[in-house]
Amino acid sequence: MPHIQLFSIIKNYLSQIHSGVTQINLDIEHGQIVSIIGESGSGKSTLLKVIYGTILPQSGEVHYNGVQIIGADEKLIPGHNKMKMVSQDLTLNLYAKVYDNIACLIANTNLDEKRELTLQTMDFLRISHLADKRVSDLSGGEQQRVAIARAVITEPEVLLLDEPFSQLDAILKKQLREDVKRLAHYLNITVIMVSHDPIDGLSMADKIVVLKEGKIIRQGTPKAIYQNPQYAYVAKLLGKANILTNSNLLPNISQTYAIYPQHVLLHKEQKGFAARVKSTSFAGNFEEIEIIYQNLKITAYDYQMLNFMPNENVWFTITELMEVED
Ligand code: ADP
Ligand code: MG
Repeated sequence: MPHIQLFSIIKNYLSQIHSGVTQINLDIEHGQIVSIIGESGSGKSTLLKVIYGTILPQSGEVHYNGVQIIGADEKLIPGHNKMKMVSQDLTLNLYAKVYDNIACLIANTNLDEKRELTLQTMDFLRISHLADKRVSDLSGGEQQRVAIARAVITEPEVLLLDEPFSQLDAILKKQLREDVKRLAHYLNITVIMVSHDPIDGLSMADKIVVLKEGKIIRQGTPKAIYQNPQYAYVAKLLGKANILTNSNLLPNISQTYAIYPQHVLLHKEQKGFAARVKSTSFAGNFEEIEIIYQNLKITAYDYQMLNFMPNENVWFTITELMEVED
């Protein structure tokens, strides 16, 4: 039996007709890491709150271990008691120490155990060295770690994360992603996370759910969805794909195709189609190159580091293209 099941969930906010989420059916298995992705306003946070129980849907049901969760109206504590949510507005005590922010969630029945658990949780989230600092003196990323520590110390069965990596730069993000994944597997908890940066989901999720205008348009493993996005929206979201139609570059001129930038292979010598370099942007192990072909702007990732300059002539071939719907 799935851990969490959503049946035909509808939640429209009254002020806007096309808002919230519509006709959501979703199964989430025990111990899965599920990443909900979609552009801003696509309904990600709404969906998370429906699962958590702080938003009551107009229709549909949320089941937890096969039992329907009672709606927010009928319960005293927001959120299902087996779930913990970390949202963007971290509810930390800014003037208390990191240690106390985390320890305060554990009852005083066994003080040794309380201390042990707090130290272990801080260790897991790599914040032991911050134990005696006040939360207000921490960076945004460190505060996010404290918030996650607070959420997991009570040993929830489900951890809900709304944009947990939003405060972090690329390296810190990668670390926290790995730590959350390790922690989730160690504690055997189900994680449902929302991110506007789909890369977060690609690298850590067992399952990706793609929302567009409040509807699930795609779900599956990160690899399956990345390799077969089916929709232009999904390909753009996951891999900054070029969306082309009606061009002589394409095998079928009336079909729409998505081409990931790494599948546009650039050449210094005459090979394939002739184009011009518009701009270049260094990205570490590759260079992002915008080229102009006829009146199309195409983005390519140059892993060969051919060192292109703006306005230079360039040739390109396409190594892979995917049929998509608009
Ligand atoms: P996301 O998290 O993907 O950015 P949200 O779930 O926050 O999206 O919002 C989905 C849609 O519902 C958006 O169009 C948003 O403006 C609207 N919305 C969200 N919360 C409210 C609210 N409390 N009242 C009215 N509209 C809302
Ligand atoms: Mg949101």
